[in-house]
Amino acid sequence: MKASEIAELLDEPACSHNKKEKSGCSKPKPGATDGGCAFDGAQIALLPIADVAHIVHGPIACAGSSWDNRGTRSSGAELYRIGMTTDLTEQDIIMGRAEKRLFHAIKQAVEDYAPPAIFVYNTCVPALIGDDIDAICKSATERWNVPVVPVDAAGFYGTKNLGNRIAGEAMVKYVVGTREPDPLPEASVRPGIRVHDVNLVGEYNIAGEFWYVLPLLDELGLRVLCTLSGDARFREVQSMHRAEVNMMVCSKAMLNVARKLQERYGTPWFEGSFYGITDTSQSLRDFARLINDPDLTERTEALIEREEKRIRAELAPWRARLEGKRVLLYTGGVKSWSVISALQDLGMKVVATGTKKSTEEDKARIRELMGDDVKMLDEGNPRVLLKTVEEYKADILIAGGRNMYTALKARIPFLDINQEREFGYAGYDGMLELVRQLCLTLESPVWEAVRRKAPWEIVREPAGYEKAQIESVAAATPAVAPQVAAANG
Ligand code: SF4
Repeated sequence: MKASEIAELLDEPACSHNKKEKSGCSKPKPGATDGGCAFDGAQIALLPIADVAHIVHGPIACAGSSWDNRGTRSSGAELYRIGMTTDLTEQDIIMGRAEKRLFHAIKQAVEDYAPPAIFVYNTCVPALIGDDIDAICKSATERWNVPVVPVDAAGFYGTKNLGNRIAGEAMVKYVVGTREPDPLPEASVRPGIRVHDVNLVGEYNIAGEFWYVLPLLDELGLRVLCTLSGDARFREVQSMHRAEVNMMVCSKAMLNVARKLQERYGTPWFEGSFYGITDTSQSLRDFARLINDPDLTERTEALIEREEKRIRAELAPWRARLEGKRVLLYTGGVKSWSVISALQDLGMKVVATGTKKSTEEDKARIRELMGDDVKMLDEGNPRVLLKTVEEYKADILIAGGRNMYTALKARIPFLDINQEREFGYAGYDGMLELVRQLCLTLESPVWEAVRRKAPWEIVREPAGYEKAQIESVAAATPAVAPQVAAANG
């Protein structure tokens, strides 16, 4: 990828980070190794497209270290879970065989799995030796008559966030608009209800949580043409251009997709979240507002009223157990405010929140939700987190998986909120799962057990016969008599 193309991706006019610096979001500081590279970002953005063969062109470590590390779920195809890589070695590089290996890898994927498309991810080593993956993908497409899409996202191009944008850019450039949507199946046509097509961008179906939301959209007559990329299929991505509205779900990572679809196809978009009752309802309202169909607006309001009433009744017994509990929330970006709203719906008090990856807009929304005296943490190293838990008397730390051991070693209840988690929290029904997990964590008997003193730390009174024994030893050895006297009080 040319430097000018990278610069163009970093300069995203729809992103409010751009007002400060054209950085493609936070740049890693020297020595920071925990942020993920551009390849990682590109792969996690596209890997949930379940029927595609994803080939990582590079040494084994790039694919091996990142394989299947997110809990995204598919409702059918499972091809995305097969880790494919060209597994480059020194010999391939010295002998100039890397491009050939890629061509063979594509051939093997086509012959063994007959996928509808293949995505090829470039990594640092082939980018440094100058492999022309665009040319290889083009010639493989002609040779096997299967779309082979280059995703040129070598790790050293930049951060994980830049990788997300590169992935989105590849979809807009090579895939979107190459096929028309399927006609509506007859079974789904309901008299009097007009169906509207929508897309969701940045929804990854973590732990299958989007399946809590999909039935609501179905009921409203909103057909999801594509979720980029949770539980998506290649043919769905191809038809994204026909949506009436795009929703950016909880993420600024693929803003360039929403902006470009608006520029090219005139599709309006909005940013929303499905975490919490308030935000779920707001997102449904935003669909209706942008589609501007009075009948849809009316049905949306009726659905919201019914669902909110139902879920509040179901949450009531749990709410009593969580009310007033104090939370330190350490997560990034949009989630820093969208999860606050979910926790406030449960009557919990968020005492501090992480804002490392948040924009000024995100911070303004946090202040709106929590008032001006909210503690915002720009830095989230273990020492800062533990100090804040102690200072603000937090009952639980809710954060990404990498903070788990910080919390557990300090004997603080912990809940994973990031992409690796096993439980879905989206939509109204996701709230039930969230309260269940919060109660399980907070009320676990393990906290009482681990906070108790160890048996050898407890000083107990010696029993009568032990006293007599000690005294007889003391009488035999006068040198220890003072200690025995002290021990006996
Ligand atoms: S930084 Fe480069 S070598 Fe490391 S995982 Fe990313 S693409 Fe692979």
